[in-house]
Order: sequence, then C-alpha cells, then structure tokens
Amino acid sequence: MQVANRVESLEPYPFVEISRKIAEKRAQGIEVITFGIGDPDLPTPGPILQALHTAADDPANHRYPESEGLPELRQAISEWMQDRFGVTFSPETEILPLIGAKEGIAHLPLCFIDPGDIALVPDPGYPVYKTGTMFAGGTSHLMPLLEQNAYLPDLDAIPADVADAAKMIWLNYPNNPTGATATPEFFERVVAFAQQHEIVVCHDNAYSDVAYDGYVPPAFMQTDGARDVGIEFYSFSKTWNMTGWRIAWAAGNPELINAFMRVKSNIDSGIPQAIQRMAIAALQADQDLIVRNNARLQDRRDRVVGACQKIGLTVTSPKASLYVWARVPEGQTSTEFASRLLEEKDVVVTPGPAFGASGEGYVRLSLTVPDADLEEGVRRIGEFTNA
Ligand SMILES: *Cc1c(COP(=O)(O)O)cnc(C)c1O
Repeated sequence: MQVANRVESLEPYPFVEISRKIAEKRAQGIEVITFGIGDPDLPTPGPILQALHTAADDPANHRYPESEGLPELRQAISEWMQDRFGVTFSPETEILPLIGAKEGIAHLPLCFIDPGDIALVPDPGYPVYKTGTMFAGGTSHLMPLLEQNAYLPDLDAIPADVADAAKMIWLNYPNNPTGATATPEFFERVVAFAQQHEIVVCHDNAYSDVAYDGYVPPAFMQTDGARDVGIEFYSFSKTWNMTGWRIAWAAGNPELINAFMRVKSNIDSGIPQAIQRMAIAALQADQDLIVRNNARLQDRRDRVVGACQKIGLTVTSPKASLYVWARVPEGQTSTEFASRLLEEKDVVVTPGPAFGASGEGYVRLSLTVPDADLEEGVRRIGEFTNA
C-alpha cells in the first residue's frame, strides 16, 4: 500500500515518542513523573459537568448538530468576549465554534493556502500550524522565536519576497512552549505588517486565561485593525480544564469566518450539542473558578521554577501559559539533558526541538502534574547532578 506524500512526510507527533519511553519504564515497575504533556490534570468544574448530565438526557441533543453551533452558544461566547476583552463580536457572522482549537488550526489553512503557498510559522511552536499548512499543499517559512527577542518573531527579518508571497501568519501568545507573552504594541506591529503584505493573521489564544501574578493576557482582537486582517482562536480546554470534551471557537473577520464555516461544513457536522451546553455553562459560570485554578497553577509554577534554578538552569518565571521553558547548561543538547534526567531520576521533560529546531538548548516543563507528583518531581530534579 502506498500512502500519500503528505502522510509519508509527517514527523511523529512529539509526544508519541515520549509516551513510548514512559510506558517502557512503567512496565518495568518504575514510578515515572512526567512534566511532559500539557493536559490539565484537574477535573472539569462541577457546575459545567452538571450541564452535560442534564443535556445528555434531552433527545433534542441526540441528533446532528448544526455546523455553525447553537445560536445560544455563539451568543454566550459573544457576551463572554465582551466582558473579558471589551470587544463586540456578532454571534451570527464573527464567531465560529470548533471541535477544539486543534481542529480549527488544522483546517483553517484549507481556506487560504493553495498548493505552493507560504505560511509564516513560529519556531518553536505548536506543531499543527506546520502540518495544517502542509496538508493544504503549502510550505511553512519558519520564524525563529529567540530568547533575546523575548520569543517574539522578528518581522523585519522575514525576507520581503517571502512576506509578499505569504498568505497567513501564525502567532500564539501566551506561548506554548516558551511561556512568553505579547504586548499590545507587538500586536499593533503585526497588524501593520499584515496590511502591508496582505497576510491573514491567525492568533492562537488557547492560553488567554491561564495567567499569574495578576497578569491579564490581551487578545489580538483588541488591537486596532485586527478585525480587518485576522482571526483568533480561543479554547475551553485550558481555561476550564475541558481538554477531554473537545470544544473551542474562532472569532474575527466575517469573511474569514464565512470561508472557514464553508470549509468546515464539508468536513464535520459540528460539536455534540450536549458539549455545547457544557460550554455555555462554563462561559456563564462564576469566573472565580478560573481565578482559583490559576492560583493552584501559580503555586506549582513557583515550585518548578525554584527546582530548575536550584540545579542551575536559566529560567524566566512565566506570567502565563502552562509551561516553564528552561535553558539547559552549556555543552549539552536538550535531548542529552532530558535523557539523563529520565535515566537517572525517572523524570520526563520535553526537549525543546520537539517544537522546532529553534527550541534547541531548552526543555519544557508542564505544570499539569498532580500536586503530590509535582512535589516528588521537584524533589528529584533538585537532586539531579547537572554535570
Ligand atoms: C492545547 C493547545 C491547543 C489545543 O487546544 P484544543 O482546544 O484542546 O484543541 C491549541 N494551541 C495551543 C498552543 C495549545 O497549547
């Protein structure tokens, strides 16, 4: 059997390899602590789950949903965005519910990329920007995210012919994997750049509400002109511990949303309606849930950052996201460091290059580790002799 080139050229999804190593160790009876995967360990809050129970019993929710989502959901999203960002979006034409941000990110390039077209993609970055572009027949021009630039892409470093040829630019702040955040001024530069080169801006704001020390991440859509050039992804996954339920949304330019809707209605049949009811409950719940969740994560962040510093890793304490991005000592690669930590201490961290070549020299530690395991993991890291 001959699979298509697009399948042939797929690199293994980074976590497949890590999961295999963990399984091997665990099969030998070893207790492995993993800081590897960014999937909230805390449960979905009770009131949100209750909405699912109720909705599951209603036969109205047993049938095909509409691709564009329940009007009540789009309305609730619009109201939440108004409260949270002070920006008004039409529930009919400027908001589109998704089966997770990942689904939307993978499919959006089908709207803008023809074979041979270019997308600008951050490196390191969430792998789906690149694969979604490749599935649509396009190629990715990588934008290095460097520590000396605060992990923002240097837009001036993009060659003019590439910028003119590019159809889309992917950005993600608060950032996975670096934990970096963007300023409103940076977003203003992005709007100007997109206008100059006629590029669609796709901002992945999956961590819009995972933040610490009172920091409130901005939305790209708060920027003047953003609605003329772009679309932004938001997710229930990290904000409300809902990764397992698969629901998110996009908001932005009505022409983009319309194209997206037309593509998606040919691929999926929407989000199970009981899950949409859950999402409405999340948007309308006491938002103190989020504050309490972030307080727990902030405590974990401080312990993980402390452990890294204790063994001489250079880290900046992240203001947002679920990740600590730590520079490994001179003279070691990310993979050498991660392998030694796993071999000697049975602790998993993700080598930076799993997110792209510019991640070399760093490892990522996720804060989605149950408190007791985190304590043990931090203890083991603290004992690691970092020769
Ligand atoms: C987790 C994550 C997503 C995926 O969110 P879902 O809504 O669960 O699909 C998207 N982008 C980034 C950067 C993420 O870290």
